[in-house]
Amino acid sequence: MMMDKKRILVTGGAGFIGSNLCDRLVREGHDVLCLDNFFTGNKNNIRHLIGNDHFELIRHDVINPYMAEVDEIYNLACPASPPAYQHDAIKTIKTSVMGAINMLGLARYCKARILQASTSEVYGDPNVHPQSESYWGNVNPIGIRSCYDEGKRCAETLFMDYHRQEGVRIKIIRIFNTYGPRMDPDDGRVVSNFIMQALRGEDITIYGTGEQTRSFQYIDDLIEAMIRVMGTADDFTGPVNLGNPGEFSMLELAQTVIRLTNSKSKIVFRPLPMDDPRQRRPDISMAKQILGGWEPKVDLNEGLLRTIEYFKSTYLK
Ligand code: NAD
Ligand code: UDP
Repeated sequence: MMMDKKRILVTGGAGFIGSNLCDRLVREGHDVLCLDNFFTGNKNNIRHLIGNDHFELIRHDVINPYMAEVDEIYNLACPASPPAYQHDAIKTIKTSVMGAINMLGLARYCKARILQASTSEVYGDPNVHPQSESYWGNVNPIGIRSCYDEGKRCAETLFMDYHRQEGVRIKIIRIFNTYGPRMDPDDGRVVSNFIMQALRGEDITIYGTGEQTRSFQYIDDLIEAMIRVMGTADDFTGPVNLGNPGEFSMLELAQTVIRLTNSKSKIVFRPLPMDDPRQRRPDISMAKQILGGWEPKVDLNEGLLRTIEYFKSTYLK
């Protein structure tokens, strides 16, 4: 018997992270409202939950207000891959900013706790390495990534202001590159691109020299941390970094994917997109301290193997 059953709203719930979060919350016995406009999300991600008494699916766009009685809100609605968020840049920034205002308004009305899925992109192309929460970042306000980066930075500001001014109980997490089952194979992110290219025997496309680095977190480690952040005391607002500090160049990632898939794919080099950050690695000491012994458990090899298995069984049957 669950002691603490809650009504929980997950915006962006049909996306990669959102659907994995919905699974976990439903499994724990909560009532989950999954809200999505299906811009980058996919009904296949949550199809297995439809019909479950603990799950409701709502088609809605967060740039418009939404009302419901809920105890907690996870605000994830926002396209996350560069090609997807650049497809309609104005819509992306509206989603971050107006979505934050609407969801914060709902949290104030319901006295709900609300968690914002912010991003390592708030650090931009960082001059400090690794990045800790106290670093203010190096972000271009007028480039092609700005609709996302500045949208997310503005959302953080709104969260802090609603907290200071209105007493809303907020949590801000800064998610570093996360991968795993239910990533969209066509949304252009590096892990899904490389795996699909390797499985199909196509060329692996490295942008630039491949020396730029990222730190990749497996989805299960992120979901565990998100639940723990939501459960922290009211005086903890974050922002807190959530990521895996293992840092790899895109060249290393490509070689690892080729090895793990036994692929015959060749590596090819393509132009580096504008403002592509050169390096990124989270300092996760705050998360480790605040989240009761949380740390990433799944390393890149293991996480890639699980993700490769998912892409094989879902798309190459
Ligand atoms: P995703 O694209 O798979 O999921 C985003 C979801 O939001 C999709 O289901 C999409 O349809 C929905 N959505 C977009 N605009 C909406 C709108 N206006 N109204 C309602 N729904 C809308 O991406 P993801 O990787 O699951 O990312 C989820 C969240 O986590 C995003 O806010 C993203 O910025 C953040 N994040 C992700 C990563 C990562 O590496 N995956 C890193 C940092 C931050
Ligand atoms: N990238 C790449 N080949 C691809 C897709 C991406 O080399 O097919 C690079 C991209 O230029 C960036 C890194 O991989 O340097 C991570 O890209 P992604 O879009 O996954 O995440 P983000 O840049 O937002 O961290």
